[in-house]
Amino acid sequence: MAIATVNPTTGITERSFEPHSPEHVERALARAEDAVSALRSTDFSTRAAWMIRSAEILESEVEAVAVLLTTEMGKTLRSARAEVQKCAKNMRFYAEHAESFLADEPLADPSTVGASSAFARYEPLGVVLAVMPWNYPLWQVIRFAAPALMAGNVGVLKHASNVPQSALYLDTLFTRGGFPAGAFSTLLIDASAVAAVIADPRVKAVTLTGSEPAGRSVARTAGESIKKAVLELGGSDPFVVMPSADIDAAAAVATTSRTGNSGQSCIAAKRFIVHADVFDEFVAAFSERMRALRVGDPLLDSTDVGPLATRSGRDELAELVDDAVAHGATAVVGGTTPDGPGWFYPPTVLTGITGSMRLHQEEAFGPVASVYRVSSASEAIALANGTRFGLSSAVWSADPAEQDRFSRELDAGAVFINGMTVSYPELPFGGIKDSGYGRELAAAGIREFCNLKTIWKA
Ligand code: NAP
Repeated sequence: MAIATVNPTTGITERSFEPHSPEHVERALARAEDAVSALRSTDFSTRAAWMIRSAEILESEVEAVAVLLTTEMGKTLRSARAEVQKCAKNMRFYAEHAESFLADEPLADPSTVGASSAFARYEPLGVVLAVMPWNYPLWQVIRFAAPALMAGNVGVLKHASNVPQSALYLDTLFTRGGFPAGAFSTLLIDASAVAAVIADPRVKAVTLTGSEPAGRSVARTAGESIKKAVLELGGSDPFVVMPSADIDAAAAVATTSRTGNSGQSCIAAKRFIVHADVFDEFVAAFSERMRALRVGDPLLDSTDVGPLATRSGRDELAELVDDAVAHGATAVVGGTTPDGPGWFYPPTVLTGITGSMRLHQEEAFGPVASVYRVSSASEAIALANGTRFGLSSAVWSADPAEQDRFSRELDAGAVFINGMTVSYPELPFGGIKDSGYGRELAAAGIREFCNLKTIWKA
């Protein structure tokens, strides 16, 4: 894939970049290793001051950065602004909490291990490679970088090839905030060059947010060189609606969850599993809202849904829908690729999905909702869990016993009750099964790339 900004609204290539040379990569890794030593002698409060300064710089540039995100991957300018603000919030969160998350953990009674004192201490691992996707060009990176830098680690970013200007903005953000040279840097390299960086002895760990094939490849390389990996991969999250739910509220939130970021979110609700007693009511309310969304120029404040980020992404989504319709699904809303420039795809609601359709097992990375009818909670749980993914899930029910049952029996990294999945700095985030392993955010996220060192003293 060429390293270039191709505006998804117009299809026009706005800027192209040559990949960094092997010599450039070598210099960047050498600088990263120097930064490991430089950060080792800093304390939490120094790093917190740099992190807060970096957040202030980001906030002061919100408009220009938001336009950049919209230009590179087509999200609405409104949502791009929100993404920038969320990044700043995450940076402040870790500036404030890193020290307590990584405080020493003393053994209450060290005499049980024959010591006068014994404790565990979190120490940084060193250089961590981050391989990141284009869908939230800033947030995916900051979600990793803020805790990593606050822990004293160093970040090296390989961003998706279609968001190079976002990647270059991130290259300097943290040094502008005061972090030492090399503490965070961007490599403009092809996916094929990633394995060599993971294998480099100066790189101690890797985190990847992206697709399942990319995750398998990165995990294989990390395994070969026995390096820690965190994988945040795809999802096909269920959104279960039971008879006791507030159907109108569920339909409104379902619409937001399925179409935010033009449906290109790992944690978007993708499979809507609706009890037969409220199926018709839900489909009618959901369809009405999906049909009413305004698709168009993402720079306009009046637009709800912009284009998809890439032509291939739009083509793959259209293929999934066409396959489902060819096998008997009904497109209640949308389902047809529009003519004209840009990679637009309309909000789409499909019913009559069966196991023979690709859409039943594959992730739909765009504003396409598959709606299923079930007749019991047990059937809903079986269908929800009948996927190789396990990122997040949502359930709508007013019954506390039912809420409790779903929260225990859904196989996923999270269950949101009467709401939609959102990532919060305060809560752990990550999946199970083919959605990956490891956690980001909260205390769990900052501890992923630490050496939990045991200290025992006679
Ligand atoms: P992608 O094609 O896997 O790309 C993600 C990153 O991995 C890019 O930087 C890409 O570089 C790189 N890459 C691709 N193949 C690679 C390989 N074999 N070895 C090393 N690096 C490789 O994914 P995407 O299309 O950008 O993003 C969409 C996917 O990400 C969806 O499945 C979505 O659900 C998932 N996602 C998951 C989360 C989560 O938190 N769980 C969040 C967001 C997105 P190039 O661009 O140069 O190919």
